Amino acid sequence: MRALIVEDDADLQRQLKDVLDHAGYAVDTADDGEDGWFMGDTEPYDAVVLDLGLPRLDGVSVLERWRQAGRDFPVLILTARDRWSEKVAGFDAGADDYLTKPFHPEELLARLRALTRRAAGHASSTLEMGDLSLDTRGARVFVGGQLVKLTSHEFRILSYMMHHCDRVISRTELVEHIYDQDFDRDSNTIEVFVGRLRKKIGPERIETVRGLGYRLTDPVEAGTDAKTG
Ligand code: CA
Repeated sequence: MRALIVEDDADLQRQLKDVLDHAGYAVDTADDGEDGWFMGDTEPYDAVVLDLGLPRLDGVSVLERWRQAGRDFPVLILTARDRWSEKVAGFDAGADDYLTKPFHPEELLARLRALTRRAAGHASSTLEMGDLSLDTRGARVFVGGQLVKLTSHEFRILSYMMHHCDRVISRTELVEHIYDQDFDRDSNTIEVFVGRLRKKIGPERIETVRGLGYRLTDPVEAGTDAKTG
């Protein structure tokens, strides 16, 4: 999953980036409203943290522009003071949640995870497909109850696929959602990561759909289908 942080306070921005990095997100950052607006307008983020008090373009205007342009990613706004009018303006502009500074980074992380899940249509914090499960709180993956060790890129790919397990996902889409902006993106490396993932979770769980991409499958269910069909 890929997140954008728009925050002009350098310390807070770094702190939030560390927390999200650690939680398995690919993270981009912007220091002002103009840059933040542009990045959100051109990149497909899975979640956005948006400070409202920003230089060059204020957060409410950034959010209004995104929503008017049909950018529907979940947005959590940060308000500097506990001012109800600021929160109302933020929600009216299309915010999904808010936090008032100062806050604990773990709370931001928990709220962002919930937003990301709900945007993908999941209510529970554990995503499951057959005996494959992904605990979004601990960023851990289990097969048949056994913990599977994944690298950060492997985890991001699996997490994105588990969030969108109802459809085929192209390599391009994976590239856009697992790398941050500064990463040297190469869709060929996706095949390498998927190959490693298959070795770790079982090759039958990631199906290659020729010309389209990949789809997660539950081998037990697929087996039943084959027998009955
Ligand atoms: Ca600010």
